[in-house]
Amino acid sequence: MDLENALKTAADIIKKSNYLIALTGAGISVESGIPDFRSAGGLWEKYDPAVYAHIDSFRRNPEMIWEMLFDMIDLTKNARPNPAHIALAELEKKGILKAVITQNIDNLHQEAGSLNVIEFHGNAHRLECLECHYEEPVESPDFGRKPPRCPQCGKIMKPQVVFFGEMIPPDALLESQMLANSADAILVVGTSAVVYPASSIPYIAKQNRAKVIEMNVERTAITGSITDVFIQGKVGHTLPRLLELVCS
Ligand code: NAD
Repeated sequence: MDLENALKTAADIIKKSNYLIALTGAGISVESGIPDFRSAGGLWEKYDPAVYAHIDSFRRNPEMIWEMLFDMIDLTKNARPNPAHIALAELEKKGILKAVITQNIDNLHQEAGSLNVIEFHGNAHRLECLECHYEEPVESPDFGRKPPRCPQCGKIMKPQVVFFGEMIPPDALLESQMLANSADAILVVGTSAVVYPASSIPYIAKQNRAKVIEMNVERTAITGSITDVFIQGKVGHTLPRLLELVCS
């Protein structure tokens, strides 16, 4: 199927659906200038995620992990929502899209105007203290390359993002599963669909007979199995075009 036909087929599915949800991953923010961490030039070329993204490492040596976090902040601090984030926010405004489940921690869906956003892996714009559980929002997570300290107990704070070895926030997990159970169509946008348990969301939806519309620059683990329509291309181009077709 060529791109325009794939987009038209997806638009038809969406027009007929009553409960559309979206699962997004790092790919939706690439055109905002945030590289997905797996590609060449990505963060995990410099830092081994098994070490740097593991909660045990943070507990042992938070200063070392903040070195990586400061590099991550440098990559993300000037990023703004791109047309793909905005198209999803528009679909929600029109009452068509019920929720966005995102694996991203960059806050760009909210900045684009999406209201019902489930943050599966947390949000880098909040800090938490592992010692006394104090939490606070951060306007701009820069801190002059000095790890921020808890105003209550003085320990080094951690961004409220899910590290390996940490649980998915229970509310986010439960709500995502409930949404996947209710959906009759799901947009799977810019995710390699391999990070569990987020990767189970499209499968739960499919089990409940939802149509799976996948949007990615390349085929993924789900393309040949549960995907009904594969829209290949950069989502900064394909999602606005899909919105146009759904609204025509
Ligand atoms: P991933 O890096 O495993 O996969 C990204 C996917 O996006 C790939 O399949 C790639 O082909 C696709 N892609 C890249 N550019 C695209 C574009 N312009 N249009 C469409 N598709 C595009 O990402 P993941 O599946 O989200 O898993 C990685 C983990 O890393 C997640 O847990 C996420 O929390 C985290 N992460 C977050 C951010 C962020 O917040 N922006 C960035 C990098 C990684």
